[in-house]
Amino acid sequence: MRHSTLTAVPARQILRFVLLMGMALARSSAATNYTISLANPQQHLLEVQILLPEGAAQRQLQLPVWNALYQVRDFAQYVNWVRAKDRSGHPLAVRALDTSRWQVADAQGGAVVEYQIFADSPAPFGTQFNSHHAFLNLAEVLMYPVDARNQPMVVRFSQVPGGWQVATPLTSMPEGRFSAENYDRLVDSPIEIGGFQESDFDEGGGHYRVIVDAESGDYDMEKIAAMLHKIVAAATSWMEDRPFDSYMFLYHFPRGPAGGGMEHSYSTAISVNADVLARAPDVLASVTAHEFFHLWNVKRIRPKTLEPVDYSHENYTRALWFSEGCTSTAADFIRLRGGLLEERPFEHELASGIAELEHRPAHLTQSAEESSLDAWLEGEAYYRRPERSISYYNKGELLGITLDLAVREASHGQASLREVFQWMNQNYAKKDRFFPDSDGVREAAEAVSHADLGWFFAKYVSGTEEIPWNDFFRSVGLRLIEGTTTVADAGFTASRNFDGPMAVTAVTTSSEAEGAGLQVGDTVLEINGKTAGQESSQEMARLNPGDTITVKIRARRGGERELKWKVGSRDEISYELRDMDNITREQRTRRAGWLKGEAEVLQATQPR
Ligand SMILES: [Zn+2]
Repeated sequence: MRHSTLTAVPARQILRFVLLMGMALARSSAATNYTISLANPQQHLLEVQILLPEGAAQRQLQLPVWNALYQVRDFAQYVNWVRAKDRSGHPLAVRALDTSRWQVADAQGGAVVEYQIFADSPAPFGTQFNSHHAFLNLAEVLMYPVDARNQPMVVRFSQVPGGWQVATPLTSMPEGRFSAENYDRLVDSPIEIGGFQESDFDEGGGHYRVIVDAESGDYDMEKIAAMLHKIVAAATSWMEDRPFDSYMFLYHFPRGPAGGGMEHSYSTAISVNADVLARAPDVLASVTAHEFFHLWNVKRIRPKTLEPVDYSHENYTRALWFSEGCTSTAADFIRLRGGLLEERPFEHELASGIAELEHRPAHLTQSAEESSLDAWLEGEAYYRRPERSISYYNKGELLGITLDLAVREASHGQASLREVFQWMNQNYAKKDRFFPDSDGVREAAEAVSHADLGWFFAKYVSGTEEIPWNDFFRSVGLRLIEGTTTVADAGFTASRNFDGPMAVTAVTTSSEAEGAGLQVGDTVLEINGKTAGQESSQEMARLNPGDTITVKIRARRGGERELKWKVGSRDEISYELRDMDNITREQRTRRAGWLKGEAEVLQATQPR
């Protein structure tokens, strides 16, 4: 959002001003108008009506094939039928051009396009309409006129069930309508309609709304607001920027499987399982800090390869290691600054992240850039195997940590990742420019450190060289200790696609798991009585060799079964970050700056 300052207007310009106003009005009447009917929650059916203004005779309408995840999900599979008529009600011919694009004929006088779409996929990545609520990612519901994607859009809802309210970061207009300057902005705005709870607060001049859709006993609004205060204060002070007047946090805490957050320019939608929220409330702060920082990194500090968004195909980008991974690094610093993360747990998290990367054989074959490019394969269980891929979240976060330490070293403590982000904010986001992926990050890091950092990007970003961790951590007086630990081995690995079901990706040959009948491709429903999801890795970490594990599965062939077997053991390399012996004053000073995500304070120069 931008502020415009009012200045005195010379008389000569007033006529021109009036004419411009007239044009603006004409343009707003040429907006594409959507009406979404909520008449049928039981069957999860939304009916959409699009009023197309006058224009060309042949009009094309596109429904995006992807949104909210870097995965093609072909939302058109849910469109039951499409029809069109002119303003006087005469039917117009509709012709499907491919699975997601339709052409309407004789629409020069405007047209009314109607279709029905099924929606029953949960927040934050899906669109869900049921008798409890509607949560909408509009790109999964609304077709856009191909020739008017950059024109104003207006949306309203009809037949809204009694007692339901609408929450959205979209601009509110009279008569329950909401407007956006174009389609991209429209679909960057999630919508919750239902009986949610709402709270709000102000911090540093910004207004924040908090929307929660959950059982009232499952969360504490005051605790959430207190956490949000800390996050937004820490993040805006870290960036020395607040590029919005108002921002919305939209939470779902379902009792069933959940997990994930989706970033938007003026809001975020986040789902955390109610049990996880109760047992591990830090999860909420961690996801929230990540999604909030996205309002800069990826929404405004945006890679060139994601613009303009291609809604009809995959958008290939090598930048997700930075746009996602380094967002997690920034979220670490925000939590540290906000008092939501302490030093030792932070170092413990880093060591776990290093273990996650080092334990995946693919860290020697797939680079951080390739992992970004291959994001579109993440829906495939085989692709998620440790031999096949690494995670751009995992390696990207560690690259953020090591790049930060490299910039500090090269600049003698005078710059850090914070200055890299601030530089990119000033030189790209504030100038409405998009950065050229990794080259743009390198440009910023070199500008703030006044050093050549090409080696870092060649070896660890586009390359797959082992990261010499201790070369980086030495400057803050830490060293990575490798040890061998005997760990519990349940005999299988499983993974999930964001909030999707957990799939068995490998079963160890001649293990007890294999003997019990577990097979690759089985869906894991429960582990030791707990729903498989966000917390399963912690559940697995609690196992000891010799324990009995109970896994409820839906077999690849056949129904649900409960399998039990004895957990085995194996030796594994473990990692731990520890203080070096005899830490120097320089290392101590560097560590203090590092833990605040700040450059070191310049010592006052001695008079000569
Ligand atoms: Zn993210």
